[in-house]
Order: sequence, then structure tokens, then C-alpha cells
Amino acid sequence: MAIKVKTRKILWSKSGNRCAICKRQLVQRLTNLKSNFIIGEECHIISSKSDGPRGKYKLLSDYDTYDNLVLLCANDHKLIDEFPETFTVEIVENLKSNHENWIETAIEKDLEEYLKTTNNIELLDEIKITSNIDNVVQGSHFYFYDLTSISDDDVSIEVSELFDNLRDYGDIYSDIEISSRTRCLIDYLSTIKQLNNKGIRFFGKSIVREYSILNIPKSEYKIAMIIAFEVNSNPKSIQNGKLMIQLPQNFTPTI
Ligand SMILES: [Zn+2]
Repeated sequence: MAIKVKTRKILWSKSGNRCAICKRQLVQRLTNLKSNFIIGEECHIISSKSDGPRGKYKLLSDYDTYDNLVLLCANDHKLIDEFPETFTVEIVENLKSNHENWIETAIEKDLEEYLKTTNNIELLDEIKITSNIDNVVQGSHFYFYDLTSISDDDVSIEVSELFDNLRDYGDIYSDIEISSRTRCLIDYLSTIKQLNNKGIRFFGKSIVREYSILNIPKSEYKIAMIIAFEVNSNPKSIQNGKLMIQLPQNFTPTI
């Protein structure tokens, strides 16, 4: 049986175009060549031939599945097949899963920074517990609250009241005792939970931006950003539990 197109697509995309061992690019383009050339090979972890590499282990199903394949450069394909005693099934499987995890987390980590710097896009975490509110609001110089996605007027009023309270809390944060802070936070969270039941979710982030205000030289300010989001208005904006928003290029929060 040949390797299915779907299996190959999964294998190539999860590898991030890198060999699982040496991390070399598997599709390369030299500056003096017009076309791409491929040095990646789809290698069987367990050979379908019993005298082939790691072939003493038998698979009940097809040998051409994603689970039994690993993407390597031609050199490393040769290496694992010539030294199957070193490159055992377990070791090759680990090399593959570690590599795929590395690709995924490296890109994920870079994505947030990339979106922010190129498109002024921010990913906001959902506010679910009291410490989420505290982390966003405390010590802020400015606030950016948004409820534009909410269609119902009564709900908008409830959200505005909550935003007013959060702003007050942020302003007097350093003057109130810890026990009072906790009471306030529990109160805000219970309002948030009630609004959750009406289809409104809250997402927040504390961001730092440089501004020059009046005659004061440019300096960094902490901005508390909280968005009340009506889930039905645009469900696609929420991905992996985070809300993705694009700020205007000349974004300025209010004091
Ligand atoms: Zn390699």
C-alpha cells in the first residue's frame, strides 16, 4: 500500500519542514536555482519487511500510517536504518514527537509577538478567576474597555457599570487593604459570571506602551485592556480560548 496523500500532508506540516534529527530544512531553494528541491524522506519507523530496519516488530495494521512514519533528511534516514539497534522504535518515536512538539510550541510562542508587531493584534485571555482581574487592572495608568460587540442596551449598561467599578478599583488599588481587595474581586467575578450566562465573555490583558503626554518625555505606561464580548457576534474571534483583536494603529487609551 502506498502512503496516502492525507498522511503525507499531516507528516510534512507537523514537521515544520525540518528533519526530526538534524533540523535541516527538507525543502530547500538555493539562490542560484529557480526551483525548490526536496531532501526530505518519509521513513518507516517499523519496516514492512521482517529483515528490514526494526522489522522484527510486527504491525497489525497498515505500515504506511502517520504513526509509523517519520520525516527525515536523506542522511538521517540512512543513519536510522543502518543503526536500528541504536535507533530503536521507541527512540525514533520519541525523536518524532519531541520534534513535532518543538515546532508547535516554538511557532505558538512566536505568533503572539509576531501578530503584535506586524498587525497591532493582541491575544487576550478569558477572565475566569479573580486573579485574572487583578493581574490586568492593578497598577494601570490607563484603561481600554470595549463593549461594542454587545447589542442589548440593558446588558451594555450592566457591563459599563462593571467597567466603572474596575476602573475605580484600579485607581485606588494601592490604598485598599488586601481583605477589601479580595471582597471587591469576588464581587466583580460574580457579576462577570452572571453576564457569562447572558452570552457575554470577558477577555483581558495588561499591555505596556510608550507615550509622550503633554510635555513629559516619552515613557512606558501600563494599560488595562478588558473586552466584554458577545460570543454570538463573531465566534471566530475566539481561538484556543483567547480573543484576537486588532487595535487601531494610532491606538490611545483613555485616562
Ligand atoms: Zn537530518
